[in-house]
Amino acid sequence: MKTKIIIAGAGHGGLVCGALLAEKGYDVTVYEAKKRRDIGHDWTDVFPLASFDEAGIPRPPQNKYIPSRPICYTNPNKTVQIRMPENTNKKSTNSVLDRKYLIQYLLRYAEKKGVRIRFATEVVSPITDGKRVLGLTLRKNNRISCVFADLIIDAAGMDSPARRLLPACFGIQNEFEEDQIFTCYRACYEKTQAEEPENQYMVHFFHMREPGISWVITEKNCMDILIGHFGTTLTQEQIDEAVADLRGTYPAIGETVVRGGQVARIPIRRTIPLMISDGYAAVGDCAGMTIPIIGSGIANSIRAGKYLADAIEQDPNQTFTKAALWQYQYNYFTKIGNKLVMIDKLRSLCTKLDADDVDYLLEKNILSANELASGSGSVELSASLLIQKILKSIPRVTMLANVTKTFVKANTVKRVLSEMPEEYDEETVNDWTRQYAQI
Ligand SMILES: Cc1cc2nc3c(=O)[nH]c(=O)nc-3n(C[C@H](O)[C@H](O)[C@H](O)COP(=O)(O)OP(=O)(O)OC[C@H]3O[C@@H](n4cnc5c(N)ncnc54)[C@H](O)[C@@H]3O)c2cc1C
Repeated sequence: MKTKIIIAGAGHGGLVCGALLAEKGYDVTVYEAKKRRDIGHDWTDVFPLASFDEAGIPRPPQNKYIPSRPICYTNPNKTVQIRMPENTNKKSTNSVLDRKYLIQYLLRYAEKKGVRIRFATEVVSPITDGKRVLGLTLRKNNRISCVFADLIIDAAGMDSPARRLLPACFGIQNEFEEDQIFTCYRACYEKTQAEEPENQYMVHFFHMREPGISWVITEKNCMDILIGHFGTTLTQEQIDEAVADLRGTYPAIGETVVRGGQVARIPIRRTIPLMISDGYAAVGDCAGMTIPIIGSGIANSIRAGKYLADAIEQDPNQTFTKAALWQYQYNYFTKIGNKLVMIDKLRSLCTKLDADDVDYLLEKNILSANELASGSGSVELSASLLIQKILKSIPRVTMLANVTKTFVKANTVKRVLSEMPEEYDEETVNDWTRQYAQI
């Protein structure tokens, strides 16, 4: 009998992992809450297509994507503009792809490899015996049913009920904290006859002096706007005011929404301390795999899907215990997860700053193109150096305590990450995840 794998949600990492496993003869079924045509979002995303190559999945056809444009950052006072250089490193070049297209492409690819996808089927909860995850409870057309498998892969995004409802004895973090969530409104507006902005991709830090970012991307046929706040509060009034303010700065933004217009949430935190259990593995936003400050998670999710498929295939007993799946977590952390921790520390610091602090950092050139590139994860992270630079710059008194705290933590972060056990041992792994959760 074939080994049976079920995947909660058609997230990117789950589809990649499922396709790779189905190709190797595993029996894979995805349960996805939405109807096929409703999956994905009405916008474009930026991410490196090299992640497809790394996962061993063919890239979408070339006419489906364009290179991303360099970002230009500005401060709350709009007195400074920092234009990022063109990316010349081919390996990390980002491309822009339509999300609806991307997800349909991955769905088709997975199905071609033999994955069954059950649409309009909602995962309600995990089924466990208190030691192992055995299956999922599902709801379709208001009817509840249960499915069981040798392994459950959780790719149902940040609010996955499979992760949130796991009993505490599994040691997996159920909830993300308020400041680890980015809530954003995104919509494309018609383009007026007015002159286009000088920079095609403008990012406003602490726009309207609120903790968060807004952006304006000038597309060929529309103006793509994002209004985002750290935390879960974003009212319609805040959205209206922020859009009006952007329209004042960029008259090319028209009145009519031509695409999107939804509010969505992204986890902006380091990866959860433990993403596996006996019979269970989380991937993508569900496990907190986005780059903490900017919220990009597609590439990491795709790469993690490949690492998970490798660990599953390499499990000699095919019993998918925590010990066997530790290989997945270890591989993911050493290749990706560890790099996100100091970015998460910076994110945490950002959520404690106010608009005056951000004006100070940009106006005094403490945050320059170099530091912004490291915050986005596009260059080797030097967050500790950035923090040292802030400390040397005689920061505003209100900032000092938080920056110093982050600086002091940097050494602990380094030590804990370097002590991650390569081999699974219950006690050592429990001890490590406890320490990681506290840094
Ligand atoms: C406005 C915005 C802009 C973004 N821009 C970028 C970008 O430019 N680049 C980038 O890399 N990332 C971007 N991201 C982040 C990116 O969307 C995620 O990191 C990425 O989608 C990875 O998520 P995932 O694949 O784990 O899960 P998701 O994309 O969240 O997919 C989860 C799937 O599970 C399904 N599901 C959820 N609950 C259930 C359930 N109970 N039962 C069954 N199915 C369920 C959902 O319908 C969905 O299909 C952006 C996010 C937002 C909100």
